Amino acid sequence: MNSPFIYNSPTLSVDALKHSIAYKLMFSIGKDPSIANKHEWLNATLLAVRDRMVERWLRSNRAQLSQDVRQVYYLSMEFLLGRTLSNALLAMGLYDDLKQALDDMGLDLDELIEEENDPGLGNGGLGRLAACFLDSLATMALPGRGYGIRYEYGMFAQKIVNGQQAESPDYWLEYGNAWEFPRHSTRYTVRFGGRVQQEGSKARWVETEEIIASACDQIIPGYDTDATNTLRLWGAQASSEINLGKFNQGDYFAAVEDKNHSENVSRVLYPDDSTYSGRELRLRQEYFLVSATVQDILSRHWMMHNTYDNLADKFAIHLNDTHPVLAIPELMRLLIDEHKFKWLDAWQVVTSVFSYTNHTLMQEALETWPVEMLGKILPRHLQLIFEINEHFLEEVQKKFPKDNGLLSRVSIIDETNGRRVRMAWLAVVASHKVNGVSELHSDLMVHSLFADFARIYTDRFCNKTNGVTPRRWLALANPSLSKVLDDAIGKNWRTNLSQLEDIKPQADFPAFVQKVRKAKLANKQRLAEYVAEHLDVVIDPEALFDVQIKRIHEYKRQLLNLLHIITLYNRIKDEPKVKRVPRVAIFAGKAASAYYMAKHIINLINDVAAVINHDPDMHDKLKVVFIPNYSVSLAQVIIPAADLSEQISLAGTEASGTSNMKFALNGALTIGTLDGANVEMLEHIGEENMFIFGNTTEQVEALRKNGYNPREIYEKDEELRRVLTQIATGVFSPNDPRRYGDLFDSLVNFGDHWQLLADYRSYVDTHDRVDELYRNPDEWARRSIINIANMGNFSSDRTIQEYADDIWDIKPIRL
Ligand SMILES: *Cc1c(COP(=O)(O)O)cnc(C)c1O
Repeated sequence: MNSPFIYNSPTLSVDALKHSIAYKLMFSIGKDPSIANKHEWLNATLLAVRDRMVERWLRSNRAQLSQDVRQVYYLSMEFLLGRTLSNALLAMGLYDDLKQALDDMGLDLDELIEEENDPGLGNGGLGRLAACFLDSLATMALPGRGYGIRYEYGMFAQKIVNGQQAESPDYWLEYGNAWEFPRHSTRYTVRFGGRVQQEGSKARWVETEEIIASACDQIIPGYDTDATNTLRLWGAQASSEINLGKFNQGDYFAAVEDKNHSENVSRVLYPDDSTYSGRELRLRQEYFLVSATVQDILSRHWMMHNTYDNLADKFAIHLNDTHPVLAIPELMRLLIDEHKFKWLDAWQVVTSVFSYTNHTLMQEALETWPVEMLGKILPRHLQLIFEINEHFLEEVQKKFPKDNGLLSRVSIIDETNGRRVRMAWLAVVASHKVNGVSELHSDLMVHSLFADFARIYTDRFCNKTNGVTPRRWLALANPSLSKVLDDAIGKNWRTNLSQLEDIKPQADFPAFVQKVRKAKLANKQRLAEYVAEHLDVVIDPEALFDVQIKRIHEYKRQLLNLLHIITLYNRIKDEPKVKRVPRVAIFAGKAASAYYMAKHIINLINDVAAVINHDPDMHDKLKVVFIPNYSVSLAQVIIPAADLSEQISLAGTEASGTSNMKFALNGALTIGTLDGANVEMLEHIGEENMFIFGNTTEQVEALRKNGYNPREIYEKDEELRRVLTQIATGVFSPNDPRRYGDLFDSLVNFGDHWQLLADYRSYVDTHDRVDELYRNPDEWARRSIINIANMGNFSSDRTIQEYADDIWDIKPIRL
């Protein structure tokens, strides 16, 4: 395999690396090299590499402080970072030297890289976006920091047992986290509960329970630059280690109960994605993040400026979805209650510093909290939210005196639904900018969810189409293709992705086309080896790799994909002698633990896979694999190997998608609906080079409004009827024939909410065109090259530049 790591630092010799790794092993880990295991070597290596980054980090931090520039603080409940070591080596150009150093010591760097646990501190797209943004901020020397929670347990580890998802705890810290710097003296008290005591106009929040938030810093390296950034993650500690009273009475277990209770706040990440679950512990987590963060921001500001008069000039706070929205009342509270601000002055600061990204328009994902629960856990904040609402409604009343119903629609308190606080409304009212994550989504946002607000605040809403970092998603994930690109156009695409355009002329040169095909084949072989080793299924690297990997969710329509696969199965069964394009359908993704339908779909995928993979008629024509435990690292292996990228959500439901971008950047062709960022990809890539199918957002809406009858489609389309009947009658679950009756019902009898049947025929026919093109490998490769060449716009560097210019008003630091 080609090395993904291009730059060699001349100043660091292989010998120096060897020396520092051995030194770390002995003096930081405390192990004799002759008996150290792989994890200990990995940690020693991480520490040695980290040392070489610390200098840059300190220099960057010093420059940020001395240049006194405006900063952005990016608040997110999730950061799905992926592995650290490989990315750091890429950033520093250290791979080759380190490989040599370890080799000399009898160790294999690539094996060590694979030993690192993925920190599973995010669910999916939202957390991964935050990670790409940190990478871009650092690489572009933009002053900022990420803030999040140091969960001890990530989402969960997924296994497939008897075709079903089995969950086990993801204790990613099993071997420690060599990369982080615990900051034992950066601690803040976070309070919960109690009550508000009014003393004249002054409110005092008293009788609270207290938890300590303790900081842990991670260096975020910039690529090929001295610039770095910091991700600060908070861990919860009990404010008094143990209850001494109880301890002295000899009740040792009761004495530590409180401690455990407090520390539960940062114990585990909630595994829900695109659905809302109103659990109290989650509310505590959200407040824990923002309280520690806002206190930290203010204390840092004070340290630098010795005044709070210039807060709004010096920083921006960005909210990644509504999860950190409590930062708004928290900043109000600190300014008013602790720093003597007048209400309106505090509000002035709040509305100049906050901005918010909306990630979904779907009702089931919108965060709202019962007034009663908020009042119990955060009584002072609830009071402030009511005050914010009063001021806001007064303003609206003045502006639109005649609009009946407007006030109750835009009120932050939803009185129609058992009194709940609408977190998205609070975010919109307090932010100076609100953005969606693709043009389509941002457009729908101001015409549906926030239509009233768009009339009230005419220049608050904007679009910032998502992007992905080309460092991790091309340079690291796909060294074979990177080498081909480097040879053709040089190496600068890593920081200037629009340079990929320069390969366009070469799409017609057979020699170049052959090189791209060879790179793809190597990646498919790499994946085939993974599948053989982990799933004991043999797949042919020459077959068409048809891939859908993402969270399992009804709106993403993995089930539609499966309907097509079963259709292929039937066609092969009917005419086993006909020559066909061999296909491997590849799935991966986790279902939220409480999401019955999503888990049911995983079960069906695996049941269908079992039938197909054991049917001799299918041999070398069709295979289905579900790769368990989807993660960033797995994505880095699967995506470069894909021929076809499935982006088939119901139009109007996927806010942007980012895996769609990763796939196209790695040369997969997309089969997709006109949803999220697929629409903009189409504008850049051209319709000849994508497979677009299905109803548009308008058509979906029209069906919803005018009545949609899935049963009619079921009855008319023979192939579809056969597939659905097979699912319903247990063809894929012979030992439990009724297992999928409810799936059938949801599609045919209960309204098919995600309109799979409406798009089925167009989807299947489009797949036929896919097959046709795949029969012409050179033409396929040519279109794949056009895809790659046109993906420059979808770098997260472009996205972050837009945030920096239009929302945060920040500029790079000089190093
Ligand atoms: C990119 C990525 C996602 C987002 O995928 P979508 O298809 O855009 O939903 C989720 N999980 C991981 C691990 C990713 O790398």
